[in-house]
Amino acid sequence: MATLPLPPGSTLGIIGGGQLGRMLALAAARLGFDVAVLERDADSPAGRVAAHTIVGGYTDRAALAQLAALASVVTYEFENVPAEAVRILQSLGVETAPGAQALAVAQDRVAEKQFLNANGAPTVAFAAADTAEEALSAAAVIGAPLLMKTRREGYDGKGQRWVEHVADAAAAFAALGGVPVILEAPADFVRELSIIAARGRDGATAIYPLAENHHEGGILRRSLAPADVGSNLAEQAERIAARILGGLEYVGVVGVELFELRDGRLLVNEIAPRVHNTGHWTQDGCEVDQFEQHVRAVAGWPLGPTAAIARVEMLNLLGDEVDAWAKLAHEPETRLHLYGKREAKPGRKMGHVNKLKPL
Ligand code: AMP
Repeated sequence: MATLPLPPGSTLGIIGGGQLGRMLALAAARLGFDVAVLERDADSPAGRVAAHTIVGGYTDRAALAQLAALASVVTYEFENVPAEAVRILQSLGVETAPGAQALAVAQDRVAEKQFLNANGAPTVAFAAADTAEEALSAAAVIGAPLLMKTRREGYDGKGQRWVEHVADAAAAFAALGGVPVILEAPADFVRELSIIAARGRDGATAIYPLAENHHEGGILRRSLAPADVGSNLAEQAERIAARILGGLEYVGVVGVELFELRDGRLLVNEIAPRVHNTGHWTQDGCEVDQFEQHVRAVAGWPLGPTAAIARVEMLNLLGDEVDAWAKLAHEPETRLHLYGKREAKPGRKMGHVNKLKPL
């Protein structure tokens, strides 16, 4: 079993080798940890900054055993880690965080909304459907227009379709692959906001200022933080974050995506049980950033302070936008974060910049 707090010199395991794993690994290194990354690809953004890469699938027993031999605490950079992988790691004596309930809730949009509503975190009205007939009758209850999403494995706007008329629900169900779906009432939002929050192993919580987020084609383009919000919105968001952290007995950093409605109420869109793209601004805008905070939480360290020290405009560098690195490097207000990905495919997240302004 792990000695907690995990002492520097120990190895922290991370499942997933993308940019979030890379930035977690960099933060872990700063606190004196070695990192072991489990990843299918031998050459990954996280693997290239980690002490060890274990190449294997996420339920590959031999690979998980290798990870368990190195790391006494394991965390994840993404929410679709199979429950099986967590069970195997736990059976090998590894501490995993966030917990199985957080993963289960985040992997299924219906379970997620049920959890949120049961814990006093409001969402849009929704209904589940497993067949085309159920999709039609659920659409009649929710009313059109509505948004149909696959229950599992959607990200960056993938796996979802707007349904303009109830009668189109069966066709939309088929177009999404005939898999179980959720039907959501449209949120009539004025802004998309998010809140990044953390809970330690001792139950202490730390909550960051809100970010205002702008998406294009389902992909985050830009975040402004701290968002320009009054105390009412900030208090609602903090209350929601605290309920989620407590309800899941969460350990680590969570990202909570919110809709700000015209009447000033906040609804939760979704929860990401991990560090989050809308929290990248904290790297240069807060006392302790979301990556270090996550490492502190899972390692059983005390949480760090979350106050803003600058106003930040975070811009994702998608595809060949990363080619502007030399120009960006000239700008004194711009902090560059590049992920070391070999190929700049269209829409691929290649890096981000944090443009700083005084508070
Ligand atoms: P998601 O994959 O659930 O995060 O959704 C991606 C984006 O679709 C969100 O950031 C919103 O812009 C939009 N969206 C998702 N759900 C709704 C909804 N119920 N009503 C209106 N827009 C939504």
